Amino acid sequence: MRALVVRGRDATPAVEEVRLPAPGPGELRVRIRAAGICHSDLSMVNGTLAPTYPLVLGHEAAGVVTEAGPGTRLAVGTEVVLNWAPACRACWWCRQGEPWLCAANAGPAVARGETADGTPLHVTLGLGALAEEVVVPERAAVGVPDGLPPEQAALLGCAVLTGAGAVRNTARVAPGESVAVIGLGGVGLSVLIAARAAGAGPIIAVDVAEAKRELALAAGATDFLLSDDQLSKEVRARTEGRGVDHAFECVGRSATIRAAWRLTRRGGAVTVVGMGARDDMVSLAALDIFHSARTLRSSVYGSADPDREVPELARALSDGTLDLRPLVSGRIPLDEAPAAFDRLARGEGARWVVTFPD
Ligand SMILES: [Zn+2]
Ligand SMILES: [Zn+2]
Repeated sequence: MRALVVRGRDATPAVEEVRLPAPGPGELRVRIRAAGICHSDLSMVNGTLAPTYPLVLGHEAAGVVTEAGPGTRLAVGTEVVLNWAPACRACWWCRQGEPWLCAANAGPAVARGETADGTPLHVTLGLGALAEEVVVPERAAVGVPDGLPPEQAALLGCAVLTGAGAVRNTARVAPGESVAVIGLGGVGLSVLIAARAAGAGPIIAVDVAEAKRELALAAGATDFLLSDDQLSKEVRARTEGRGVDHAFECVGRSATIRAAWRLTRRGGAVTVVGMGARDDMVSLAALDIFHSARTLRSSVYGSADPDREVPELARALSDGTLDLRPLVSGRIPLDEAPAAFDRLARGEGARWVVTFPD
């Protein structure tokens, strides 16, 4: 089968023929119908996440079960969304009700299959979903209703669960609270959609690219601001001089974490959703940490239980209360995925989604 493979750090991803093993006990083969290209895939290519190569990219996808290994429950033909952090349900964190912090998490790259020349292959986050097929543990597949638009359903497994969960589960945004969102990729736009659904206002979207203005307003922002040295002033002008109740940092950089901190009112909360680098240190004044009484926290995979919340989001998509069309910049064939990585690196569009013919 064909898959998007990166051969080494900073190498250009290319479509290759690869071989996957047959599903073993507790495993499924899933034919991918649509797979999004996420910023974390860029972090696999540029080495930020230090994976093992050669590596099949992709971890945000929807598909259909085509082969079920021994001891599995999901039937062949079931529509599924893939989960890149399947919970073991047995470790301390899982038993605490925090499955998104599961200690059994497999890490950035898992050995699975081989390339056409017999080199051992790895798959991103245990999935490797920018491919015609995946073979995954059943725990990594969440059953969803039939008939969802595949290019929207795919996004439920990363961008949307992450963004919606950050708003609902981590920050618990209440009606009437003010929100700022910095960084308008797939996750930032998902935060906007969820903030609007939560009844927040104003919802201030912030990005370095003017081209994100229309996307932000379509996703639910009440205001769009360019990230510049007037940003704090502009945000205060929209919040009676205080700053926002909640700032969401969806970039993963020290500079934008500090910007989110400055936009937030005394006693407000900064939720870091972006995944940053190991060596990018955030500096805050000790006096400011005390005096501002702000909370700084992160949201890993939306502090969500995908087995419960992906089906909820899928039902909302199915009944029309959740509309993810603003997130989908374009549907492309697998062969165009390498070019879409370049567009993503330049900050163009929201989500480019690879779709496969039925
Ligand atoms: Zn992702
Ligand atoms: Zn666990």
